[in-house]
Amino acid sequence: MQVELKNTTKKLCVIGDPVLHSKSPVIQNTMIRTLGLDYLYLCQPVARGTCREWLECAEFAGYAGFNATMPHKQELVPLMDALDEDARMYGAVNTVVLRDGKRYGYNTDGRGFLAALGQAGVATEGRTVLVLGAGGAAKAVAPKLCQAGRAERVIVANRTVEKAEALCAAHGDGRMVPAAFDQETLSRLASEADLVVNCTNLGMTGTAGQFESFGFLDALKDGAAVCDLIYAPAETELLRQARLRGHLGLNGLGMLIWQAVFALEHFTGESIDGGAVLPAVEAALAACG
Ligand code: NAP
Repeated sequence: MQVELKNTTKKLCVIGDPVLHSKSPVIQNTMIRTLGLDYLYLCQPVARGTCREWLECAEFAGYAGFNATMPHKQELVPLMDALDEDARMYGAVNTVVLRDGKRYGYNTDGRGFLAALGQAGVATEGRTVLVLGAGGAAKAVAPKLCQAGRAERVIVANRTVEKAEALCAAHGDGRMVPAAFDQETLSRLASEADLVVNCTNLGMTGTAGQFESFGFLDALKDGAAVCDLIYAPAETELLRQARLRGHLGLNGLGMLIWQAVFALEHFTGESIDGGAVLPAVEAALAACG
């Protein structure tokens, strides 16, 4: 990718461990180039447990900010001077802005998820949503569905049911309900759901895990949609099985792109028309495979 560098170009990056697989540099540099912004976005491996040292390096080197992926999102929280409401709510930071000697922590995952659903025409207001998983992704998705998404009920089904219970209790206004992850429970819950969101690793390229059975999809109502936060492969077996049963399926690419749009807004302090940059980002991602 051609990026024009000037002496004034501001530095951004994504940190993680591992991080070299990250699509954030392609997404961000494409948006930066499309919008004519004077930024450069790099990929920076940072070892687990070294966020404090990294922040000092980034400030010394004059970085304008960075994104964080696994395993740094929680470790960054106490290292910030200020947190936005979502970072506080999830206990995780995915975007850091370094400005005037201060560290501002944000989390754009939940907003990105809702924006992707909205763009695909999937409604959440007043609906029942079945969230599969209670890990880092579910911690952003499930509360956001209740809060900004105005879902009537969000059922969090997880293999380790105690984690689902803790997640629901932490955001307890009664609309988040924990559940087990066995086939019988999933079938019963699927029959009540307008939307199923997979926040587990099951079906992701490079992991051995897969759903034991897709029989629970048979219980879905007509018109129910299935969203998988996974974007590699583009169509997971869950999404394929949902499509074969006539349900709308959505992968995690939209969320990945929209959380990046909102992160770039924080970095630049400018409002960005996500819809206008989307075609260029999708083309760049398709070209890099
Ligand atoms: P995580 O914190 O490690 O959580 C993994 C979740 O999967 C846990 O709920 C875990 O259950 C469950 N799980 C793992 N193996 C399982 C199995 N064999 N059977 C049943 N459940 C199982 O991971 P994460 O950060 O939440 O990420 C989850 C997925 O979301 C990943 O595929 C990631 O790529 C994707 N994601 C996408 C985006 C995006 O922008 N599109 C953003 C964030 C994450 P236990 O609690 O029982 O272990």
